Amino acid sequence: MILSGLEGIHGCHVVAIPYPRRGHINPMMNLCTLLASKGLTVTFVVTEEWLSLLGAGSGSGSGSTPNIPNIQFRTIPNVIPSELTGGSDFVAFFEAVSTKMEAPFNQLLDQLELPATCIIADTFLAWAVAVGNRRNIPVASLWPMSSSMFSFHYHYHLFVASGHLPFQIDNISEKKDEIITYIPGIPAIRLGDLASIYMCKNEIMKIVLEAFSWVTKAQFIISTSFYELQAHTIDTLRKTLPIPIYPIGPSIPFMALQDRVTPSETRNGSNSVDYLKWLDCQPKNSVLYVAFGSFLSTSASQMHEIALGLQSSGVRYLWVARSEALNLQETCGEMGLVIPWCDQLRVLCHSSVAGFLTHCGWNSILEAIYSGVPMLTFPLFVDQPPNSTLIVEEWKIGLRVKEETGVGKVVGRDKIARIVRRLMDGEGVLQLRERAKTLQSSCQRAIEKDGSTFQNLHAFIGDLVRNSNLEFANERT
Ligand code: UDP
Repeated sequence: MILSGLEGIHGCHVVAIPYPRRGHINPMMNLCTLLASKGLTVTFVVTEEWLSLLGAGSGSGSGSTPNIPNIQFRTIPNVIPSELTGGSDFVAFFEAVSTKMEAPFNQLLDQLELPATCIIADTFLAWAVAVGNRRNIPVASLWPMSSSMFSFHYHYHLFVASGHLPFQIDNISEKKDEIITYIPGIPAIRLGDLASIYMCKNEIMKIVLEAFSWVTKAQFIISTSFYELQAHTIDTLRKTLPIPIYPIGPSIPFMALQDRVTPSETRNGSNSVDYLKWLDCQPKNSVLYVAFGSFLSTSASQMHEIALGLQSSGVRYLWVARSEALNLQETCGEMGLVIPWCDQLRVLCHSSVAGFLTHCGWNSILEAIYSGVPMLTFPLFVDQPPNSTLIVEEWKIGLRVKEETGVGKVVGRDKIARIVRRLMDGEGVLQLRERAKTLQSSCQRAIEKDGSTFQNLHAFIGDLVRNSNLEFANERT
C-alpha cells in the first residue's frame, strides 16, 4: 500500500547504513523493507563482505544480492575486520567501524545517481550524523536496543553526578544490588546489571558516549521496539528528547514470515529442510530452542555444561551453535539437534517450540515476544543483563539461568537441567506462559494495519517528506 496524500515519497531516497553486525543489519533491513513497501526508494549500504553474507542468508558463506523490491544494495570496500576471521576482537572492530567507514560512505553518496534525501544510520555510527549535517541531508538514527538502554546512555551524566559511575572494579560486587531509580522512564535498575556495559573497556564506552553526544544532532530517532512494550520509557523519552522518536518495531522479518509458504515439503535448501523437518516431527510445545545470537560465544567449559545440562534435562532441543555445531552434536545425544544457523523467527514460530534459552540479544527478544515463546535468560555482555531483567522482572515472561554478569562465571549442568525442566514442564510457569501470550497479542496489535507501529511509521514518513522539503503533488495547506 502506498500512503495516500504523501506523493512526495516518490522523490524520497533513503540511504541506510547499518552497523556492520548481524544484530544491527537485520533490524535495519526490516525497517527498510517496511519503508520500501510504502513506496520509498531505499539504498542499503554494506561492506562487500556483508553483501555476500546477506546473499547467502546466513551467518557465513557467500551468495548473490538479496532481492527485495524497491531496495538496491550498494557496497563500500572491506575497510573493517572480516566478520569471518577478525570480528571477535570487539574493541578493534568497533574502532575500525568508527574511523574507517566514513570516507568510503561519503564517496558513495557523491556517486549516487539519485541523490540521498535522508540517511538512516545506526546510532553507533556517530560519523553518519556528521555526514548528514554537513550535506544538509536529514538523518534518522536507528536505535537497535531497548528503549531503556537508550535512556541509560542518554542519561549517563546522571550516573556520574550521583557518583555511581565510572565503576570501580573492586567495589562492584558490594554495590551490584543497589537499585537506581533516577533514570527517566526506567522505574528501577540494578547497578550490577549495568556492570558489563559500563565496565567494558574504556575505548568502547568512549565510542558509545561519543555516539550519544551526536544522537540529537540527527533529525529523528527510530526505535526497533514497539510502543506498547516500553510505553512509559518511550513517553518519557518523547518529553525529554529535543527530536522525535518513533517506535517502529518489532524490527524483525514478520512480513517475510507472513509471505512464506510453510509446509516443509515446499521448502528449499537441504539444511533448512533438515531442521524444519525435525521440528515438524516433534510433539507440539515440546522443544526448547537454544541460541546465543550471531557473534558472541560463551567459554568452552560453559558450552560443555550447557550440553550436559540439556542432555540430562530430558527435554527435546534445537541448538544453534554456529562453528561449534559439529563438536556439540556428538555430546548431545538423541534428544537434541545442533545446527550452525537457522531461520530463527521461523523456528520460534514453529508449533513444536515452547521455550527459548537465549543470550538476551534485543532482536532475539523481540522475535520471542512476537512468537509468544517464554525465555530462559543467559545474558553475556553489554545490554543483555538489563534485557534479562526486563524479561524476568518487568514483563515476567522468563526465568533467569545466569545470574552473574560476565562470560567467566560458569553455570553448572545441574542448575541448567533443573531450570530447563521447570520452564518446559513446570506447573508453576503457567502464568509465565500466559503473560508471554498476552505480550504476543499486544505485539500483534501493534503491527496491525492501524496499530501503533504503522501509525508511527506513517508519522515518520510524513515528517521525513516534510523535512526533506519535497514537493507534494497534493498540497494540503
Ligand atoms: N539469527 C538467525 N539465525 C540464527 C541465530 C541468530 O537468524 O541461527 C538472527 C536472529 O534472528 C537475530 C540476530 O541473528 O535477528 C541476532 O541478533 P541479537 O540482537 O539477538 O543478538 P546479537 O547477535 O546481536 O548478539
